[in-house]
Amino acid sequence: MISQKMQEQVKSSSVIRAMFEEGKRLAGIYGAENVYDFSLGNPSVEPPEEVRKAIIEIANDKNSLGVHGYMNNSGYEDVRTAIANSINEKYSTAFTHNNIIMTVGAAGGLNVILKTLLNPQDEVITFAPFFGEYRSYVKNFEGELVVISPNTKDFQPNLEEFKGKITPKTKAVIVNSPNNPTGVVYSEDTIIKLSEILRDKQKEFGTDIYLVSDEPYRELAYNNVEVPYLTKYYANTIVGYSFSKSLSLPGERIGYLVISEQAADYENIISAANIANRILGFVNAPSLFQRVIAKCLDAKVNLEAYNQNRELLYNELVSYGYDCTKPEGAFYLFVKTPIENDAEFCKLANEKNILIVPGTAFGCPGYVRIAYCVAYKTIEKALPGFKALIEELKA
Ligand code: PLP
Repeated sequence: MISQKMQEQVKSSSVIRAMFEEGKRLAGIYGAENVYDFSLGNPSVEPPEEVRKAIIEIANDKNSLGVHGYMNNSGYEDVRTAIANSINEKYSTAFTHNNIIMTVGAAGGLNVILKTLLNPQDEVITFAPFFGEYRSYVKNFEGELVVISPNTKDFQPNLEEFKGKITPKTKAVIVNSPNNPTGVVYSEDTIIKLSEILRDKQKEFGTDIYLVSDEPYRELAYNNVEVPYLTKYYANTIVGYSFSKSLSLPGERIGYLVISEQAADYENIISAANIANRILGFVNAPSLFQRVIAKCLDAKVNLEAYNQNRELLYNELVSYGYDCTKPEGAFYLFVKTPIENDAEFCKLANEKNILIVPGTAFGCPGYVRIAYCVAYKTIEKALPGFKALIEELKA
């Protein structure tokens, strides 16, 4: 008999599994090329050429024990130095290898930092719509996820409600920009106001509240829109970065945490996170890919391919009468459903061989997420289905 906690997890995972099964069923009937799967955030553009070159170069290195061995739980020091230098150059910060812990993707990093920070019943605030896995990550350490309701006007965080929901038990706030599922980039104005609120509440309660910035989409920002670097606005900031989307390497599980020296209890956080990496069973981030990304810190995926998808999908859907905010980053479009029930809308979309995810999964019913990290042709072929859907519902 599996644990009660896992019974709950299995039940709540069934929506995604059901969608996966539905995709397979449809592909069996109509052929995979006639099923338009917009359900997953799996990158559709190739990793940059630098990645392949780096893998080959490292594989040809005669000292392969040094490539594949254990190292410090925080990762290779030279790799962490290269990352710190690269961040400093881009954002005028002053990090060293001491501020960087290599992680098993953003997911690993979030689990490490939540294990480091949370006591049972501590509260972690996040803003809907949000990446649904936060629920599980917070529950892993017996924390309580407090969700701020969505501001559907422009999907910037609802700061009024936020202010009222911070309590002496608030230990952390998770923000994600560019955002999954909306593609919205939190503006500098938002970040300044959010930081002020946090500072005021820390003073009021005499507590430390950590701002965890989950940033797998930092590099996927269109038309040079600025994505503020949060350590510069708020001292108790911890950044969780990932190469899953920025270099199209989600299966390789590689990312890092940045723990600023300005953060309260910095030294203890670093040692605890180091140990958390070990005792959560990660031990250390994948060795080969630490070495690979250190050689690819300036490499970029073909953002223009995602941008073309974004323009096509957004412009066409709006012209059919759909209501959505134009995403400035990531590779998702969050669309208001023409009927109230988002799950029902997804079912109707399935009948047109279109797979999308209900907003309810992200804490925002009445919307759907369309992941446009697919071939341009897939969008072109799916558009008549999207058009027919809204026409049928409005008829
Ligand atoms: N955070 C957000 C907002 C995501 O969308 C994802 C993956 O889609 C993750 C974290 C996990 O990323 P990783 O593959 O780096 O663990």
